[in-house]
Amino acid sequence: DPHPHPLPQAGKGASSIDWARVRADFPVLERQVHGKPLIYLDSANTGQKPNAVIDTVDDFYRHHNANVSRAVHTLGTEATEAYEGARNKLARFLNVRADELVLTSGTTFAINLVAYSWALPRLEPGDAIVLTRMEHHANIVPWQLVAQRTGATIKVAELNDRGELDLDQLYSLLTPEVKLLALTHVSNVLGTVNPVREICREARRRGIVTLIDGSQATPHRPLDIAAVGCDFYAITGHKMSGPTGTGALWARREHLDAMPPFIGGGEMIKEVRFDGTVFNDVPHKFEAGTPNIAGFVGLGAAVDYLSALGMANIEAREQELLAYATKALSDVDGLRIFGEPVEKAAVISFLVEGAHAHDLATLLDLEGVAIRSGHHCAHPLMQHFGVPATCRASLAFYNTFEEIDAFVAAIHKVRKLLA
Ligand code: PLP
Repeated sequence: DPHPHPLPQAGKGASSIDWARVRADFPVLERQVHGKPLIYLDSANTGQKPNAVIDTVDDFYRHHNANVSRAVHTLGTEATEAYEGARNKLARFLNVRADELVLTSGTTFAINLVAYSWALPRLEPGDAIVLTRMEHHANIVPWQLVAQRTGATIKVAELNDRGELDLDQLYSLLTPEVKLLALTHVSNVLGTVNPVREICREARRRGIVTLIDGSQATPHRPLDIAAVGCDFYAITGHKMSGPTGTGALWARREHLDAMPPFIGGGEMIKEVRFDGTVFNDVPHKFEAGTPNIAGFVGLGAAVDYLSALGMANIEAREQELLAYATKALSDVDGLRIFGEPVEKAAVISFLVEGAHAHDLATLLDLEGVAIRSGHHCAHPLMQHFGVPATCRASLAFYNTFEEIDAFVAAIHKVRKLLA
């Protein structure tokens, strides 16, 4: 048996799909790095793109390129239909209404839209925002900016020993002055899957508006935003097989109607007059300027691709890879894995005794292995663990058990070099 660890049993769950053929859809995975086959374990940073997405973007520029919502000529109509078609696909994928889905450049823009358009005009001194210890900077800094300008304060929900939210402590923070609870669905560092449904129910009972950062959830598991019961849900396209510079904010219609536009310009208006401008309907009111049209058409193709594979199959496959990698890494002397949440996505943060995270990542790169090292845009979480940085291996359905074997063998080799 070439595998040093037991493989998942055949015939179960995700194994009905030919994952080797799926992997062959991703051309970059055929690359060599430093003369070694690329082992890409940085999908939480950005995901690789299948031919279906690359070809769709290529086809758009070759055959359909025009601006949206402006020209009546054929290409203009095709571009608008393709762009709005992508919105519809994404809405179906997330189980929300298309007219409640604002297309943005990613999660960062989506959260800032809520911060500037919903929170800034509403919050007052004495109000509070609740965040969690495991947030990405994109779900911290916009709230700090809003807090500075409104006089609101920020309260932080802490973690238990397993790297999960301490729910009792979180609920104890949800006092009457709290106007917003913003938290991530899945941690980009620990992989922790937060019980967002239950948390949103508790917040709603107390009249608190909720925002969920779905950046790391949409790529890995079936998602039904309507069932989450939140007020705002932010996603980013490039982590879910789509092009960079794509993403979305879903919001309840009542919020979108009440929110003033954040960015002004073309596309977001019905009529512009110097004595008063009439804004476009939701969601276009929030989409000023020429959008990333080709990118969104590509994101539509990514949604089709993921849907054809089935998100439940993707989740099952990644859980098998995660279990295998966790077992393999646990056998490495001096290797510490950060967090052991009961519900976890395929992200493993770790450190090896005596090795700096960046040194390890640099030496692994020489072996063809791409992992991320650093703070993962989560300084407060690093402060919680008392480390400046970790290494992070993040898996996707296109990874293989053989790659995990090679990754662990490379760690053994590098450890000897650093010892
Ligand atoms: N939130 C989380 C949990 C993330 O992992 C990321 C990814 O970097 C972001 C937000 C920011 O996403 P983007 O840079 O695509 O806006």
